[in-house]
Order: sequence, then structure tokens, then C-alpha cells
Amino acid sequence: MAHTYDPENIFAKILRGELPNKTVLETAHTLAFHDIYPQAPVHVLVIPKGPYVSYDHFAAEASDAEVLDYTRTISKVCEMLEVGEKGFRLISNAGELGVQEVPHLHVHILSGRPLGRMLNPPA
Ligand code: 5GP
Repeated sequence: MAHTYDPENIFAKILRGELPNKTVLETAHTLAFHDIYPQAPVHVLVIPKGPYVSYDHFAAEASDAEVLDYTRTISKVCEMLEVGEKGFRLISNAGELGVQEVPHLHVHILSGRPLGRMLNPPA
């Protein structure tokens, strides 16, 4: 699958400092910030700083340092948000069928209320 990165996407603008964000944690390769339209009391997005469209793109092409930093930052953010004990959901939407709105890899960390089943049954 081709992974054409659009440098004008909203998260690229956040990374360039062109749009503000409420940062939770920033590291060498990763930025975590609060979602602008939270779907739960805890709703944080974690993005790599590199130009990756989706999780599969990142997992295939990112450097070892980026992958390690991203994974460990997700862990640190979960610790900071104190979601480990009560539970949370980690989601990464990709492409049209995954209903991805912003074409820059992000995982959603959601918690703070019962989140229901993962998917609605087909109509
Ligand atoms: P997706 O549907 O691509 O998985 O999720 C994109 C997420 O980005 C949505 O939850 C949406 O609320 C969030 N979002 C969109 N624009 C902005 C923005 O400018 N700032 C922040 N912090 N979140 C945004």
C-alpha cells in the first residue's frame, strides 16, 4: 500500500508549531497531547514526529529509535494519566474504512468512563 504523506495535515501543523496543542509529554521523536474534542474524560493522542500516515506505515518504515521512543512514550503517558489500573482503550484508525480523519499516525488513549464494546454490531 502506498503511504503518501500530506505535510499540510493538522498534526503536521501542530508539530511545526503553526497550531497550538495541550501537550502531555514531548520526547525526541514523539508528541502526546489532549484531543480537541474529547470522547471520554481522558482522551489523549500520541503521534510520532516523523511523517507517517498510519500505524502500518510507521511499523514498516520508522527507525528503531523512533519505534522504541513511540512505544515507550505511550507507556509513560499511560502512567502519567494513571489509566493502567482501571483500564483504557488504545485505538489507531487508518484509511477510509478505519474512518481516519487526520492522515498522520496517532493512537487515541481513552479512559475515565466505561467505554462500551469496541465496535457497534453491523446494522
Ligand atoms: P481520527 O478519526 O483520525 O482517528 O482522529 C482524529 C482526532 O483528532 C479526533 O479525535 C479529533 O477530535 C482530533 N483533532 C482534530 N483536529 C484537532 C486539533 O486541531 N487539535 C487536537 N488536539 N485534536 C484534533
